[in-house]
Amino acid sequence: MKLKILCVLAGLLLSTAGASYAAQSCRGAGVWLQVLGSGGPELTDQRASSGYLVWQDGRARILVDMGPGSMLRYEQSGARIEDLDVILLTHLHVDHSADLPALIKASFFSDRTRDLPIYGPTGNARFPDTVAFVQALFAASAGAYRYLADYLTGDEAFRLLPYNVSAEGALVQPVMEGQGFKVTAAPVHHGPIPALAWRVDIAGRALAFSGDMNGDNQTLPKLAAGVDLLVAHNAVPQDAKGVERNLHMPPSVIGEIAAEAKVKQLVLSHRMQRTLGREAESKREIRKRYAGPLTFAEDGQCFRVGKR
Ligand SMILES: [Zn+2]
Repeated sequence: MKLKILCVLAGLLLSTAGASYAAQSCRGAGVWLQVLGSGGPELTDQRASSGYLVWQDGRARILVDMGPGSMLRYEQSGARIEDLDVILLTHLHVDHSADLPALIKASFFSDRTRDLPIYGPTGNARFPDTVAFVQALFAASAGAYRYLADYLTGDEAFRLLPYNVSAEGALVQPVMEGQGFKVTAAPVHHGPIPALAWRVDIAGRALAFSGDMNGDNQTLPKLAAGVDLLVAHNAVPQDAKGVERNLHMPPSVIGEIAAEAKVKQLVLSHRMQRTLGREAESKREIRKRYAGPLTFAEDGQCFRVGKR
C-alpha cells in the first residue's frame, strides 16, 4: 500500500515537472519568439538551458544561445536546420553554448548547403573568443570534434563561419544586416565573463535578449529601446548578494530596464532553483517599475512578437 502511495506521489511530481515544457508551434504568419530553454545550468530545474528561436512566417531563422537540452527542444519545435540564417551567442558558459556540436553533427542529416554564421563575444584571460572557441571544437589540428573539421574548411555541404563581436566597453554595435533582418549587440556585465546582449529587428518587429548580466554597465536599455519583446534572465532573487549579484540582475533591475527601454512585452527566462517558486515576489519587484505584459517562460513556449 505504501509503495502504491509512493508511486502515485512520484507520478504527481513528474506531471508537475512536465508542466515546464509547453509543446507549441510558432509556425504561423508573422514574427514569433520560441523559448527552447528556460532554465539555467542546473540539472534539477526540469528545463533545458538557455536557447531561443526567432521564427518568421513559418521559418526558424535566428538561434540565440544553445545550452544543454536546447537542441532537443529545437527538434521538438519542428525547426529545420536548412532555414537557420544565423546563430548568436550571448557568452560561452556551458549553459549557453554546449549544444553547438549537436547542431553541427545533426546538420549532416539535413539538406543544408548555405554557410552558417555564428557571432559571439571576444575573449579574455579566462575565456576564448568565439572564433577560438569554434576552432577548439572543430579544428582539424586539435579540435575536440576534429572529425567534423570539414564544416570549417568548406569540404562539407556548408561552412560554419565564426565571428567575434567586442564584449568590451559600452557601445551598442551593429553586427549584421541583410536577408530582411538586422542584428545589433551590446556588451553587458556578467562578472568577469565576456558577454553580449542581442537585438534583432525583423519584418518591422524588434526583440532583445539580455543574456546573463547584472545591469552594471547600463547598455541594455539603449539596445532594447522600444522593442516589442525583451527576454530577460531571472536567475537570482531580489535579495541576491556577492557573486550571484555580480553575475545576475535582480527583479528590480529587470523592471527598471524594461521601463526605461519602454519594452512592450517582457519574458522572464533562465529560471533557476533560486527563483523558481518565488515568482510572486519577483513579479512584485518588477511591477513597482514596469506595467507591461510579463510572462515567466516555459520550454517550448511561443510568443507572437508585436501586433497582428
Ligand atoms: Zn547562464
